[in-house]
Amino acid sequence: MGGQGSGNWYRWNSKTTTESQFRIDIRWLNKQGYLRSGSIGSLFWSCRGKQTGSIRYRMEPDSIILNYRHRPHGGEWEEVEQKISFSRTPCNYGGYRTWFLCPRCWKRVAVLYGMKKYFLCRHCYDLAYGSQREARHYRLMRKADTIKERLGGKPGRDYPFPWKPKNMHWKTYWHLRQEAEEAENLGWEIVGKRFGILY
Ligand SMILES: [Zn+2]
Repeated sequence: MGGQGSGNWYRWNSKTTTESQFRIDIRWLNKQGYLRSGSIGSLFWSCRGKQTGSIRYRMEPDSIILNYRHRPHGGEWEEVEQKISFSRTPCNYGGYRTWFLCPRCWKRVAVLYGMKKYFLCRHCYDLAYGSQREARHYRLMRKADTIKERLGGKPGRDYPFPWKPKNMHWKTYWHLRQEAEEAENLGWEIVGKRFGILY
């Protein structure tokens, strides 16, 4: 495999766990010059010279589109296309630093992991891999996101709660809003207690 933008990507060593095998570091992409809009190529992961995975990507002005195949445990291969948006923060000495916005929690991160079907941040996978209690806050946050999206908003607490859609009754709106906010607050409260992280 080759082509423009291809390259060896985080050759891993014996210390690297299998879980962190498929990771994408935006600082590395930047160093290679791959963040230019219009850049297209493939990214590889390898272990002791043996290729263990690859994905195709293309850059848009404010996002990267990933294309790859994924096979769920015991299932069939499926084509996946994932869009990951960028966020830019100014540097002290001028210029900008580019981050991924985790597609699930919208946290700004430098590294995404492909542990299951999608590339997500470490925090999201910590949650997904956890106990029943952890799964609960995952569900709560997803419930809040579903309501926000239904109202025309974006998922994640980095985005303001959407305004009432034109055709919706105020009573319905406030009910949904309360439900979403309660679920989200409770979800994050559990995260904070479990991981000692305050978002
Ligand atoms: Zn995340």
